[in-house]
This record gives sequence, structure tokens and C-alpha cells, in this order.
Amino acid sequence: MKIAKVIVDVPASSINQTFDYLIPDHFQQVITKGMRVIVPFGPRKIMGFVVELISESTHKGLKKIIDVLDLTPVLTDELLKLGKWLADQTLSLYITSYQAMLPQVLKSQYKKELVRLTEERLSDDLEMVFAGRDSIPYEELANRSIRYYHVQKAIQDGDVAVNYLVKSKITKKYVTMVQPAKETYLLEEALYDVAKNAKKQRELLGFFIEYPDPIEQPKLIRYLETTQPTIKKLIDRGLLASSKVEVFRNPYDDDAIAKTNALELTEQQQQAINPIKQKISQGQHDVFLLHGVTGSGKTEIYLQAIQDVIQNGEEAIVLVPEISLTPQMVHRFKGRFGSNVAVLHSALSSGEKYDEWRRIHRKEVQVVVGARSAIFAPFENIGIIIIDEEHENSYKQEDQPRYHARDVAIYRGEVHQCPVILGSATPTLESYARAQKGVYQLATLTKRTNDKGMPEVQIVDMRNELHAGNRTMFSRRLKEKMENCIAKNEQVVLLLNRRGYSTFVMCRDCGHVKECPHCDIALTFHKNSNQLKCHYCSYEEPMPMICPECNSDLIRYFGTGTQRVEEALTQLIPEARVIRMDVDTTRRKGAHEKLLKQFANREADILLGTQMIAKGLDFENVTLVGVLTADSMLHLPDFRASEKTFQLLTQVSGRAGRHELPGEVIVQTYTPDHYSIELASTYDYSQFYLTEMNTRKTFQYPPYVYLVLMTISHENQVKAVQTTQKIVQLLMNHVSNNTVVLGPTPSPITRVKDRYRYQCMIKYKHEPQLRKLIKKIIQQFDEDVRKDDLLITVDMQPYQLM
Ligand code: ADP
Ligand code: ZN
Ligand code: ZN
Repeated sequence: MKIAKVIVDVPASSINQTFDYLIPDHFQQVITKGMRVIVPFGPRKIMGFVVELISESTHKGLKKIIDVLDLTPVLTDELLKLGKWLADQTLSLYITSYQAMLPQVLKSQYKKELVRLTEERLSDDLEMVFAGRDSIPYEELANRSIRYYHVQKAIQDGDVAVNYLVKSKITKKYVTMVQPAKETYLLEEALYDVAKNAKKQRELLGFFIEYPDPIEQPKLIRYLETTQPTIKKLIDRGLLASSKVEVFRNPYDDDAIAKTNALELTEQQQQAINPIKQKISQGQHDVFLLHGVTGSGKTEIYLQAIQDVIQNGEEAIVLVPEISLTPQMVHRFKGRFGSNVAVLHSALSSGEKYDEWRRIHRKEVQVVVGARSAIFAPFENIGIIIIDEEHENSYKQEDQPRYHARDVAIYRGEVHQCPVILGSATPTLESYARAQKGVYQLATLTKRTNDKGMPEVQIVDMRNELHAGNRTMFSRRLKEKMENCIAKNEQVVLLLNRRGYSTFVMCRDCGHVKECPHCDIALTFHKNSNQLKCHYCSYEEPMPMICPECNSDLIRYFGTGTQRVEEALTQLIPEARVIRMDVDTTRRKGAHEKLLKQFANREADILLGTQMIAKGLDFENVTLVGVLTADSMLHLPDFRASEKTFQLLTQVSGRAGRHELPGEVIVQTYTPDHYSIELASTYDYSQFYLTEMNTRKTFQYPPYVYLVLMTISHENQVKAVQTTQKIVQLLMNHVSNNTVVLGPTPSPITRVKDRYRYQCMIKYKHEPQLRKLIKKIIQQFDEDVRKDDLLITVDMQPYQLM
């Protein structure tokens, strides 16, 4: 094969295709599919992915590949196909789609070096390049007439390695290992010579007499509470030896995590896991929706299913929302499978992430636990894919490629013929509807494993507080409960249910919220024009001065920041120690964990925060959970607002009373009879599902229809509107009769960075040519996109409607 088809790193839709390049002789047999190469492109040299090898090209005058970036492919055949599918599904570029599958280190142009790992003689040409050095800049290879397959072979044999230099720091890390320098009996003899009062040295020797294996110095110091000078003394006496060894950074100390064993499953768990185990043993694909209340033992089911998969010699991918990927969560997997687990988490440094990725790439682990992008783990023998908290929005990428991890999971599950498990206490309507139709297999866990009921939820009507003269944001009941709780030395979690933009208008007297008469969506308040607008259908009306329901003049828009709540809280209960957790206090790396740890150590009485505190937390001493403003999510300009409210309230209620102490939940709201609040308080998912499905049917939202959201932005408002108008028209001319095209409408966040944003929404049931049509339409605006800074984004099945 003399020619490579390459997807080049030029993110432009006019370049979204493969280009043919000649493979020069010295790269013959070296270059394979899935490697990254450097190729000439116009006057530039750029990176590209080799996606296919061919022997003849229809093009003439092909240019040559300049360099090879990877000597082992970074993308498997399966991932190459997946990337193509992903790009087609999400209307993204192939290059963006491939980049999304790789760790950051591989995406950018980091400097590389070739490191020698062995003292033994390498091939002649390699010896010549190294010329006595331990490492050489990678570019030196290109300047020599070296045979790349010698390099490739040396990498495979573990004699040399390619190292990425991240931000001028070396990505590989070395650790000092300490070990005995003499046989055990000689150490025993030496013990007699060590002075009786040199207790620390004696302890150290005693340790190595018992455990003669090499051990990492920091660990040794920790275990024995000894010091480096003490170790050095024994090294100086020739009793111990130390050496530097390369380590893969493992951000979790596996040895410090207690081992756990499979628990005996409850009957419900057994019934849920059996069909999954069956699929694993038969090597068949199916999708299971595991609907289980919080604390019903879903994670134990995951663990035991993975156990089977490991025994089969296969691999497991577990997705967990970023926010729940806490040390607690990681420990549960490492506790069961030890160092057979890699963790991919955005809080890791890019070097750490790369190390974890490489452990997967080299098949050194069989389990990966990670956030969204872990779905692209380069395993080749997947036996199960699990998505925990499948309803979480973070599984949808809000950037190109705008994919949903669930779709990728099912795609890979089909390729690998393995089961996919979607777990949640509050499944998305989409998933639950599929389970109802039999597309997914439904398994239900209704009981908590500790046989405790769910905590009692009380709804407090905030309108009554106002009428009784209480103008604070804390109801009298909540205040009293908090004080009781603190007096008993127990802890409180307070949720300020707020998303970035709460722009709806509500009457504080009667709870009335202005909604669009056509869309069942709260109207958005636009400050500049003092107008209320529906951002789905562009209906608008002036901001009312008095409530149309009750004539009160207390109608205004809604929203309070966590900081203000904290101030009010310390005024209300001065003795309370409060930890505030929001984007401001958790911006710094590690801050999130630190605050949680402080709370777990009972250094505070109240944990106050936004949705980020609602999930995954498990504190023994929390007996009261308060939701300050259940409404602020309910009136987001989003057809999923009720669903999100139900999910959040259910999640947060699950935080209380997980352990011995019983828990209580107080939900403050101005709309106490809204079904999502009422039904969450009784944990009635089925009824919620039925009610919400009705609404979706009436107003034609998913899962009854599919959605596409197109957003058009430009500095010039008129241009943005006109372009959107044209796009709407073009769409209308070509879609089928029952497809609805809405717009142009200003986005709820209309102006971002001096650009005006307009949108158009498509609702359809069956429109097989839609992707093609949208692609074609976008192409018509290609010139404006390239020369006039027009931006058109397409989101197939959007979750973010802002
Ligand atoms: P979920 O993931 O559904 O919220 P978990 O898996 O966290 O539930 O389980 C809740 C608690 O119950 C955990 O402490 C877990 O160790 C325990 N648990 C799970 N399954 C069993 C079982 N079969 N027997 C005893 N305890 C169990
Ligand atoms: Zn009113
Ligand atoms: Zn509307």
C-alpha cells in the first residue's frame, strides 16, 4: 500500500473529506490506519489522521507524508468508523469528531522526545541517533535516514518510548523505590549492630526483613511514620538501596483503598441482574434501563456485572456524571477491582489523563470509570457499557461534535455485541418511553437496600410566608428545623436551585408565572426592551406592572445568588457554620473536594450550594435537606423544566437519611401544586411520567417528536435575523407537511460577546433526508461563514435550549 487517505486538521466544512498522500519508502510498513501523520497542505504542514491505505489514487501529483506522529495507532478501526458515524449523525467535521476521542495531550502539538528505557544494545541506526544520550528530541528522527520500523519495534519491545512534553514539564514521572541491598539473613544480622536507641532505624530494618520487596519511598515514610534521613542512614550503611523508577501517575492510591467483596444480592437486585448476566454470557447486545430509587443498590449490580465481564477476559466502560465522579465513587470501583481500573476525569491534569488513557490503550486495565468522553476508551473487547444517572445533561456534549454519550454507548454496544445498562432513579422520558415500548429492557428496584423508607418531604408554600409577614427567603418551618438540627449536632444541606439565567417573571403574592400561550414555556424577561418573549415561537408581550391574576404589584423577575443567601442565612442563624459551594468557591482545582471533606469532618453545620451538591454525596450526619426555591428550574424556558425539577428534587431528597439517622426534606415553593413538585414529594415516578408524557404529547415535544436547534449568530442583528429567516424558509420549502419549523426567534441569551443570536427549531417525526437538507442549506451560506464571520450551529436532539 503506497497511498494513505488522510483526514487533515483543517476545521472547515469545505475541507471535510479525505486527501490522498504518498507514503515515502522509509514509512512503508510503518504507517497503518489510525495513526496521526504530518502532511503538507498548501504552504503549511499540518496534522492528519490516516483513515485508509490504498494502492492507487485517482488523483495525480500526490504529495508525500512528511512525518509520523504515532508509531502505534491511536485510533482503532472501530473508533475510525465510529468517528465517521458520529460526524454524520451530529453534522460535525470528521476531524473534530476524531479529536474528541483522544486525550488533550494528543490533540495539541506538544513537543515529544524519544526515551531510552534499556541498557541493552538497540539496533544500529537507533544507537547512532541516541549517540550515548538517554533521550533525544523526536524531530531528530526525521532528520536521519532511520528505519522507522526499527523504532516501532523498539517501542513494542519496551526498549524505547515516546514521551510528550506538556508545558515544558515532563509528562512521565519518576518515583524513588527503596529495597533491601542485602539478603534477609544479613539484614537480621545487621539488626544486632544497630544501636538499641536508634528505634526508627530498627523499625525500618524490621520492616524489610518481613517484606523484602521494593516499596515507594513516600509510601514507606507514610506507613512507618519514618523520615528520609533515617532511610538514608541505612542506605549509607549499605543495608538498603534506592533507585528511580518511571511510574504512571495514578492519582488514586490504590493500596490505600480497602478491598470489598461482592455482596449477596437482594431478591430485587437478583431479578434485575439475571437478564444482564445472561446477555454477557451469550455475548449479545441489548439495552437495559435500570430504574432504581437512590440507595437501591444499582452500583452493586454494576460491580457484579463487571465482575462477569472481567472473568470473560473482556472490558467494561462505566460512565458517571462529572459531578458525581467523587473519590467516594472511584473508591467503590477500585475497592472491587483494584488497579484494574483506570479513571478519566476532567479534574486530572492533562498528563495524568494521558497516563490513564495509555493504560487503557495498552490494555493494562479492563475497567474504565469516567465522565462523558470515556465512552471513547480505546478498548477492543468490550463486554459491558454502563451509564449511571443516565438522565444527566452532562452526557450531552454542548460543543462540536454535539453527541450524546448514550447514543455512542448503544452504537458501541452493537458493534461489540454487549449489553448497555442505563441506570437512574429518574430516567429521562425518552428512555422510559423506549422501555415501555420494549425497545429497552426495564428492570426496577423499588426498595432501598437498608429497608429504610425514603425521607419524608414537606412542601412549604412561600406565598403564605409573605402573607404572614415573613419576607426572608427562609420559611418559618425551615428555620425552626435548621435550628433543631444544629442543636442536635446534626447537619443540613441547603440547595439553592438556580441555573445561570433565571429570567422568568413571577408574582410573589399568588405564584403566577407568565407563560407563552402557545408553547407552555415560561416567557423570558428581556431587560433592554422591557418585554417578555417566548424563545420557541417568538411571541412577545410587555412586562406587566401588576399581576394579571391577583392584581398584586409584587410581580417581578426571579433569582438570588448563593452569596446573598449565605449572608441572609448567617443573619438568620448567627451560630450556624456555613460552607458555600458554587462556581465561585469551587473554581480552583481541588476546592470542590476540600469543601466536601470539611463538611464530612463536621467542620460546618450547613452546606449551601447549587445543583452541584445534589448528587452522589453521602453524608452520615445529614438529617435535613432544604430546597430554597424549587421554582427557579421549573420556569426555565425549556420544555424539560418539569422533568429537571422532578429529577433534582428526587435526587436531593435521596441525600437525607441514607444511614442510621432518619432524614427530612423541606421544599419551599410558590407553586406547591405543580405536579413535578407534588409527585417528587411522594416519589411517584410513574405518575410523573404519565402526566409529563401528556404535556409532551399536547405540545409536541420529545419523545413524541425529534428536535433540531439551529442557532445563527452575527455581529449585525439584521443580518442574523435575515439569515435565520432565509434558513427557516428553505427548510419549510423542503420538509414534509407534518414537520414544524419555528423561528426566527431570539435565543434566550440573545447577545453574547457582541454577537446577536437567533434560532430556528425543527420538530419532526420522520424526516430521513433532514441531515442532508441541513448540510446543503449550510453550504449555501459558506461564503458568509468564511468571509463575514457568520456562525451557524446545528444541534441534533438539543438539551440546552439557550
Ligand atoms: P444506588 O447506586 O442505587 O444509589 P448503592 O449501590 O449506592 O445504591 O447502594 C446503597 C447502599 O446499599 C450502599 O452502601 C451499598 O453498599 C449497599 N448495598 C447494595 N447492595 C447491597 C446488598 N445486596 N446487601 C447489602 N447492602 C447492599
Ligand atoms: Zn399574583
Ligand atoms: Zn411560544
